[in-house]
Parts: sequence; C-alpha cells; structure tokens
Amino acid sequence: MTTVGILGGGQLARMLALAGAPLGLRFLVMDNVADACAGQFAPMVVGDYRDEAALAEFASRIDVATFDFENVPAESARWLVERVDVFPNPRALATAQDRLAEKTLFRGLGIPVPPFAPIDTLDELRAAIADIGTPCILKTRRLGYDGKGQFRIRGAGDIDAAWQALGAQASKVGLILEGFVHFERELSVVAVRGRGGEFRAWPLTENWHVDGVLSASLAPARVDEATAALAVGHAKRLAEALDYVGVFALELFSRDGELLANELAPRVHNSGHWTIEGSETSQFQNHLRAVLGLPLGDTRMVGTACMLNWIGEMPDARAVLDEAGGHWHDYGKEPREGRKVGHATLRSDDAAALAASLQRVGTALGRQDQVLPVIHALQD
Ligand code: ATP
Ligand code: MG
Ligand code: MG
Repeated sequence: MTTVGILGGGQLARMLALAGAPLGLRFLVMDNVADACAGQFAPMVVGDYRDEAALAEFASRIDVATFDFENVPAESARWLVERVDVFPNPRALATAQDRLAEKTLFRGLGIPVPPFAPIDTLDELRAAIADIGTPCILKTRRLGYDGKGQFRIRGAGDIDAAWQALGAQASKVGLILEGFVHFERELSVVAVRGRGGEFRAWPLTENWHVDGVLSASLAPARVDEATAALAVGHAKRLAEALDYVGVFALELFSRDGELLANELAPRVHNSGHWTIEGSETSQFQNHLRAVLGLPLGDTRMVGTACMLNWIGEMPDARAVLDEAGGHWHDYGKEPREGRKVGHATLRSDDAAALAASLQRVGTALGRQDQVLPVIHALQD
C-alpha cells in the first residue's frame, strides 16, 4: 500500500485524494488548520510546516511527498527531501515561489516576459517606472495568490499610493515591478512531466480573471496550432530546466500573436480542473502517476469544456446537474468572501452546444457576467 503525503489540505489535495482512490492509493495530508477540506477524505497531520516534529511525523508515515500549497517554506521541502522522495523538487518549488527568480529563469530560457525590475526602495520604484513606463503593476515577490499583494499603477500620480500599500513588504517578501500587458487573452499550459522525463500537455486553456481571481476557463483555447505549439514548447523547456516532476501550469498573456509568460504554478492548477471530466486523464490522476513513476495517461480531450469557479458561496447545483455535460464540485468549505468553494464543468461536443449550455446555467444562476465572456469567445 503506497501512501502519498500532501503538504497543504485545500481543494487541490482533496481532488488529488479523490483521483488517487481508483489507483488504490492512501493519502496523508499536512495542514496548519484542522478543518482543511481535504481532511474530509484523508487522514491529517495538523501542524506548522516549519515544525520539525510535525514534519517528522508526516515523513514517517508516507512513501512520497507532494504539494497542494505552493508556499510551503523551501527549507521545509529541503528538510523533507533528506528523508523521503519529494516531487516537484525543492529547487523548482523555490523558483516558482519568487517572481523575480521565476521571470529571470523564463528570460534565460528564451521565454518572453513583460519588462520587470526588482524594487527595494521608493527611489528604485521611481527609476523603474521611468524605465518601464505606465501602466505597470507592483507585486510582492513572494506569497501572493489570487491577485493579492499587487498594486496597479496607472500613472506617476499613483506611485505614493503604491508605496503606501506595499512599501513595507519590500524588506519582508521583496517587491517586483512589471509592465502592464494589454493582452487579448490569458492562456495557461497545464502539463505533466514524469520521473523519466516523459512530457505531456493538455490542450491549451483560455482563462478569465475577475479582481485577480480565476472566474472561468475554456478548453481548448481559441489559438492557432503554431501558438499552441509555441506555448507547449515553452512549458517543456521550463520543466526540463527545473527537472520538474508532476503537473504544473504556465500562465501566459497573448498579445499581437506574441506570448509573454506571467508565472509558473508548481502544482495542479485551477485552470486544469476541466480535465477531470473533459479529458482522457485528469491533471490530478496524472500528477499522482508522475510522482509515483507510473506511466502517464493520455491528455487528449473530446469536444470542448468550460469550468466556472464558485467564489464565496455555492450556488444551487440543479441548473448544472440538469445539463447533459454538467458536473458539480463542492469542496465542502464554509462560505467566506473571496474563497474558492467549488466549481462546475460543462462539457459539450461542440462550441454551439457549450455556448447554449452556458447560457442556460448563467441565466438560471443569475451569473450572466461570469458566462458571457466565454459565450462570446465561443461565438467568435
Ligand atoms: P494566481 O497565483 O492565483 O494565479 P497571483 O496572485 O499569483 O495569482 P498573477 O497571476 O501575477 O497573481 O496576477 C493575477 C492576474 O492579474 C493575472 O491572471 C492577470 O489577469 C492580471 N495581471 C497580472 N500581471 C499582469 C501584467 N503584468 N499585465 C496585465 N495583467 C496582469
Ligand atoms: Mg500565482
Ligand atoms: Mg496567476
């Protein structure tokens, strides 16, 4: 009996545990809160990721460790790797945790990025803005997620407000300034690399964010074959450079036929949730196969799929369950503003049928704003 240890007990760990059940896997989740939603399906070690005693107990009960949470301290991952197999490796994790290290690596690999500069002081911020221009975005280098720790600077008049908001973080988690990209589309490559270097990517996904949080994903994305191949090539080079094992997502902006890399998520990713019902092998199943050294599953999809995130509270399930290709995921979390509490996936054989399905669900749930950009994309 193989036990997979997962650091972080959120919905990603929960969906990993669900995907691993048919493989006969056991799971052990470590989280610093006792009511983490993956705990409804897997035993837990409750403790701080920096607490050696808790980590030691976790390590003693598992065969391999992986992550649901990308901000597990890199030192904890390195401590663990001395005792048990850890995938992805701590270097890949540490790189993805730091926007500066990540963007420097992208650039070094020939993957285009928006202009960026590390910022330590207000003077450096002024100088970088003079260089990069406005609009631009000041971000924390570490610990940001769902658009948190970011300040959009529209013009020189916003500099003081930006420093007021984030300046104190400069000495704690570091800051980075990035040029604002007027993108036509946001895309992600969700891909997997096995222990032996085998690489597979799912069809490209197109994503819509609201207030920095993913709202909807559509697969396959509306891009030509050359763009898709370019994106997948970037992801493959990145995975090889990091000797990455497992599933990851590379977030990209598409503008004027050009792709610019935004960030790397070193784990299964929200924009890959559609793969559960929409593709031959889900990202969760393939992540487990990769970290266990099993053959990777086919990533092809049939038809087209859209995932809708439920943020804050769950809507009524019935409108989605009424759809032929409607699938419901309730993470079993308490409602809370801004929290990802569940998602739905609608799968159809063609674009027109998916647009009609989205129209019905959006109307029934009063969520027209969420489905409209996807419907427009499907009708383009
Ligand atoms: P997550 O990890 O949840 O995807 P995050 O907090 O790490 O989010 P980013 O992915 O950097 O944040 O940014 C969130 C969203 O903000 C992006 O998906 C994009 O919509 C917008 N955004 C971020 N950086 C830029 C940029 N340089 N130009 C234009 N839009 C941007
Ligand atoms: Mg991120
Ligand atoms: Mg992001």
